Amino acid sequence: QIEFIQALSLPGNKEKDQPEITEAQRRKMNIEETQKSLPIYPFKEDLIKAIRNHQVLIIEGETGSGKTTQIPQYLHQAGFTKDKKKIGCTQPRRVAAMSVSARVAEEMGVKLGNEVGYTIRFEDCTSERTFLKYMTDGTLHREFLSEPDLQSYSVMIIDEAHERTLHTDILFGLVKDVARFRPDLKLLISSATLDAQKFSEFFDDAPIFRIPGRRFPVDIYYTKAPEADYVDACVVSILQIHATQPLGDILVFLTGQEEIETCQELLQDRVRRLGSRIKELLILPVYSNLPSDMQAKIFLPTPPNARKVVLATNIAETSLTIDNIIYVIDPGFCKQNNFNSRTGMESLVVVPVSKASANQRAGRAGRVAAGKCFRLYTAWAYKHELEDNTVPEIQRINLGNAVLMLKALGINDLIHFDFLDPPPHETLVLALEQLYALGALNHHGELTKLGRRMAEFPLNPMMGKMLLASEKYKCSEEIVTIAAMLSVNSAIFYRPKDKIIHADTARKNFFVPGGDHLTLLNVYRQWTDSDHSTQWCYENYIQYRSMKRARDVREQLIGLMQRVEIDLVSNPLETINIRKAITAGYFYHIARLSKGGHYKTVKHNQTVMIHPNSCLFEELPRWVLYHELVFTTKEFIRQVTEIESKWLLEVAPHYYKPKELDDSTNKKMPKNMGKSRAELGEH
Ligand code: ADP
Ligand code: MG
Repeated sequence: QIEFIQALSLPGNKEKDQPEITEAQRRKMNIEETQKSLPIYPFKEDLIKAIRNHQVLIIEGETGSGKTTQIPQYLHQAGFTKDKKKIGCTQPRRVAAMSVSARVAEEMGVKLGNEVGYTIRFEDCTSERTFLKYMTDGTLHREFLSEPDLQSYSVMIIDEAHERTLHTDILFGLVKDVARFRPDLKLLISSATLDAQKFSEFFDDAPIFRIPGRRFPVDIYYTKAPEADYVDACVVSILQIHATQPLGDILVFLTGQEEIETCQELLQDRVRRLGSRIKELLILPVYSNLPSDMQAKIFLPTPPNARKVVLATNIAETSLTIDNIIYVIDPGFCKQNNFNSRTGMESLVVVPVSKASANQRAGRAGRVAAGKCFRLYTAWAYKHELEDNTVPEIQRINLGNAVLMLKALGINDLIHFDFLDPPPHETLVLALEQLYALGALNHHGELTKLGRRMAEFPLNPMMGKMLLASEKYKCSEEIVTIAAMLSVNSAIFYRPKDKIIHADTARKNFFVPGGDHLTLLNVYRQWTDSDHSTQWCYENYIQYRSMKRARDVREQLIGLMQRVEIDLVSNPLETINIRKAITAGYFYHIARLSKGGHYKTVKHNQTVMIHPNSCLFEELPRWVLYHELVFTTKEFIRQVTEIESKWLLEVAPHYYKPKELDDSTNKKMPKNMGKSRAELGEH
């Protein structure tokens, strides 16, 4: 039992006890009736008129009002797709691009990929005939490289602008510029909340078109005391709601796939034990790596006399609207990419959400009727510990990738680029320094030939450099595989709670000397030898879907390698060269063994530990390279490979001096100096 205390409600503009459309009615509505029931529908004509009259229009409307799915269709009906022009619509998240385009294709009665399609990184589901194109903001960013004037578009919609992702922020500057020399291009900036005024000012006082929202009041509840384990608290709260509250679906906000899976397993287990004592509870996860057929399930109407609980990441905060949510459970956390511009360290951290975010989440409960939001933190914590707003990504992440792209677009003066909110000066400088050390920029800050080739890859500059370095080390075939596997890394090994021992044994069978990168390569090779078999994956506790995705990514990367004229060369017996090629890209991510099985990062002396899932967890080599640094219970480095310090001087002479790499005791520490999994709090 968790004790909740009711606090102030989020006010609505609708009466409490009159749901607009009951769930039973909604189940019977056909597509046309659903379209007409959306808040945006009465404004269709006015909206089109406003778009005809203004080149740039800011559109503000509450989540679920129909902006993303309806506006492109309205524009199509109004003739904006004549003369073979397209309507583009960007989304910060790939799941949203896929799901929304599928919905629009369904509404228009066409096959996804024909008239309506989507493009996300490593996946293009469009054709010659596509005139409504949904894409991630990163994809449009890349399209500027091949079509700087966006000539094939008549309208570009920058959707979910309030999310303020790095790519969306940079797109603001780019599209504003294009609009100046293409008066025929219409630009729509669409946002769920508040920021409309700011966007309007940025776009030379563009008019704001407001779609009045409809919202029912939402009662807010806080826990009486802080909850130590919020995943467990979610499970308890879900069951509490299920047992005591009238029917209506539940939406739970968690931080990522692993957490969602844990919660799902715990919940399934308890539901099983309760048996027929409770009503049917459908448990549905949604996160970005979830295959699209599974994603589609969250939108299916709940059967009568049952309750649906959706376990979602931030994606359900504004990007996706699931009808009939009456209860929201909000532990108050999200996963954030962070970058310390002082130390140059990048990390993935679970952080408290902002007040704005918490209120968005609560608002999801009041879309079809009065709802309730259960916050798994105290009222005091809300008031004193949450920031008002989320800091835009551009001010808190590494800009290496963005700077490389802008340089490739010929934008040299980044200090004076038209940013909505400029990034911190030191972050910009650091990105330039990093690209210089990678060899992508020369000392005038101009793109080098290597940099131009790196920009061809939709990857962060370190991984791009690794791929290009594989040419010199004659191991491009292996490096392409490793890059593809890293792109899906977290989800390769399957580790179900009830079979952890078997799963870990299976995983250990793949370990090879040298580290996790070579282990990933080994997994891929064995899978290929099995003829890409599903059975093989099943027997070895490998996620088939992730492998399939790795294979797709690999194919795409091979295509890009051909474009930059790198032949695929394989040298299966030579692992030193493979590791040197990886080091050529990731020489920023180096740590050295210090006391007690801890590691210190070389340049910044930060204490980190090898993650317990790594094959080097018990080995503790003197020098290691890591793919990423993640804060969970500790500062862990994940995907770790043993290197020799002298390689650093070979691959990054600008960056390392022999003195820094000096070590007298070039021996391995005795084994088992490290802590066990349990001691680290990782299970
Ligand atoms: P907005 O962009 O204003 O937040 P959307 O256009 O995304 O709103 O959603 C409008 C409505 O379309 C939702 O309330 C929901 O009813 C419906 N909808 C959106 N996506 C799907 C989907 N994949 N399946 C079923 N219905 C959907
Ligand atoms: Mg939307």
